[in-house]
Amino acid sequence: MAENLFMRVTLRDGTQGIGEAAPFPEVGGEDRPTCFAAATELAQAMIGQSAADYESLADRLHEQAPLHPAARCGLETAILDAYCRARSIPLWQLWGTADIRERETDITIPICSPDRTLELARGWYARGFRLFKMKVGTDVELDIRRLQAVHNTLPDIGFIGDGNQGFSREDCLRFVSGVKQFGGRLVLLEQPLVRDDLEGLQAIRHLTGVPVAADESVRSLGDAREVVRLQAADYINIKIMKTGVIEAWKIAAFTRSVGLRLMVGGMLETRIAMGCSFSLVLGLGGFDVLDLDTPLLLSTDPVTGGYRYNGPRLYPWHEAGLDMQVSSPADRMTIQ
Ligand SMILES: [Mg+2]
Repeated sequence: MAENLFMRVTLRDGTQGIGEAAPFPEVGGEDRPTCFAAATELAQAMIGQSAADYESLADRLHEQAPLHPAARCGLETAILDAYCRARSIPLWQLWGTADIRERETDITIPICSPDRTLELARGWYARGFRLFKMKVGTDVELDIRRLQAVHNTLPDIGFIGDGNQGFSREDCLRFVSGVKQFGGRLVLLEQPLVRDDLEGLQAIRHLTGVPVAADESVRSLGDAREVVRLQAADYINIKIMKTGVIEAWKIAAFTRSVGLRLMVGGMLETRIAMGCSFSLVLGLGGFDVLDLDTPLLLSTDPVTGGYRYNGPRLYPWHEAGLDMQVSSPADRMTIQ
């Protein structure tokens, strides 16, 4: 279940912006109560500030709450949305106009039995999805069988193996050779090893020849520099919930400047946070793997407007800000 927080910022002229925090205890250590408390405190410090100073505001939020990236992300998004609405520009225009086109996302398949894996994959395949992000890393033999079941049934597909830090080096190598043996197309290994094992990630890259994406290994610009220094990845997975929006933007710009490739993902988010991530894809460019599927996994869409999905395709919007309205707020959070 997603336990997220929506935030609304109102500028002096009445313009409003919305943002979302999706705290994810396993990754960021935040949960909804601590995120709510942090956001409440941070919001007080934003009162009276100019939204045009969004970069320095992000720095201040970071100084005040370094361990609450999701709370910061929600506030930053709301400030950015309000600022862009006031200027009548879509949020992506703030980052640039590099890549304004429809894009395709992968779809995530959780760890489950081979039968259930195949059932889920078939359903998404029928809706047009061709890139399957398989959660793996707990049982190598089972992981291989799950991928093989999908490979043997559905033509023209690719896999991302997302280990979520679960593999040992040896298990990861066994997994890759198992997939290669049945002819599976493994386009990416996402965070196969524990986040601090950058030498291990570098070894996996060289031993398998499969591109590696650093996800949990990169939670700041400093982390990204370290990954680059140790040649630990081919891709950096940008997630605004790990770092806040402006830091994510800086990491993405840095990643491009040193010639690494960009992936973008999210926690369990609605289209509010994911729209903000999509704005980076559109405005900044250079993202070639999109993992922007979580709104499709939720039972309801609490917002109207903004970018649209059709199967795996995401369609850009051209209206101001994120162009979204919250249509079914649950518990309202108001900070005066
Ligand atoms: Mg991941």
